[in-house]
Amino acid sequence: MTALHRYLLSLAEDLRDLDLGGEIPALARLSGARPNQLGIAVCDLDGEVTAAGTAHAFPIQSISKAFAYGAALDLHGLDYVREAVDEEPSGEEFNAISLDAVTRRPKNPLVNIGAIRTHAMLGATQSERTERLLDTLDAAAGRPLAMHEATYDAELRTADRNLALAHMLRAAGSMQEDAREVVDGYIRGCCVLVTVSDLAVMAATLAHGGVNPLTGRRVFSQGASRQVLSVMLTCGMYDNAGDWVTDVGLPAKSGVAGGIIAALPTRFGIATYAPKLDRHGNSVRGSVAFETLSEEFELHMLSGRPPEDLEDRAARLLDSDGVQAQGPTKDLALDQADAATDAPQES
Ligand code: GLU
Repeated sequence: MTALHRYLLSLAEDLRDLDLGGEIPALARLSGARPNQLGIAVCDLDGEVTAAGTAHAFPIQSISKAFAYGAALDLHGLDYVREAVDEEPSGEEFNAISLDAVTRRPKNPLVNIGAIRTHAMLGATQSERTERLLDTLDAAAGRPLAMHEATYDAELRTADRNLALAHMLRAAGSMQEDAREVVDGYIRGCCVLVTVSDLAVMAATLAHGGVNPLTGRRVFSQGASRQVLSVMLTCGMYDNAGDWVTDVGLPAKSGVAGGIIAALPTRFGIATYAPKLDRHGNSVRGSVAFETLSEEFELHMLSGRPPEDLEDRAARLLDSDGVQAQGPTKDLALDQADAATDAPQES
C-alpha cells in the first residue's frame, strides 16, 4: 500500500465520525445517503486512482454542469457560448433567478439557470442533447455510468423552480427550446451515479487538459478544459467561491448530493463525498477534507511553488504523525465495511 493510500485512509477515518453539523437534503436520502459516509480519492495523470472510505455511488448533481459546459464549448466555441452565458460569479444561491439585467444572460454556467441554458445548446433535439451530455460524463469518468431513476423521478416531480428558470430564459428571448424538454435533459445529467473514484478521474481529465488519464481518450479540447477550470475557480462553489479559493486554492465544483471535485492542472484530480451540506449547499466534511489536503500537501495553486510529489509528502506526513506505526488495519476495515454496506444503487 502506498503512503498516499495510508494517508487518505487515515484522513477518512479521522473525518468520518466528526460531527461538523450540516444537513442531508431529503432528495439525497433516496440514493442511500447516510450521515457518516465519507470518501476521498485522488487520480494522477497516469490514471492511478488512490481511494479511501466509502465506495457508495451517489448522483453527480451539479458537478455535471462543468462537463455540460465543456461539451457546449467544444460544440460551438467560446464566443458562441459566451453570447448566451456569461462567466461572472453570481454570489447568489445555486437556483437564483440570475439573469443579468442588461445582457439578459445567466451569470455563469454553474448556477442552475446557466446550466439549463448550456444544456439547451447540446443538440437540436432532447435526445441528442441528453445523449451528448451522458456520453461526455461517461468519457470523463472512463466508464459507462448509470442513472438513479428514483432521484430523476423525484426531481422531475419537483422541478417547478428549474422550470421557472427555463421559462425565464425563454421569456428573455435567450432560449428557444422547449422548457420542459431542456429541464428534463438537465435533470438526467444531474442524476447520473458516480463514486468518489469516478469523480477523481473526471477531475483528473480536466487537470490533464481534457484527456482522460485512465483511457487516454480526449474528452475536451485543451481550450475547453481550460475554460471549464477557469469558471470552476470563480463560480464552482456556489456563493462560497471566495472562501474556497482562499482556503483551498483549487478550481472546484460541488454537487448537492455531497460530491466535490477539484483539479490541480498538470498534476491530479481530487474528489470527496460526504452528504451533509452546509448552508451554501457544499459538503461540510468534504470541504474540511479539501482544506486539510490543501494545507498538508501545500496544494494552493497560488502559493508560488509547485507542490511536492504526493507520495513523498504523504510518507513524511505519516512519519511525523506516527500514523505509519499504527498500521492500516483499522483504516482498511473502514474501507471494506463501507464497500460492503454501500453497494452502488442503480435504481
Ligand atoms: N439537480 C439539482 C437542481 O437542479 C442540482 C443542484 C445542485 O447540485 O446544486 O436543483
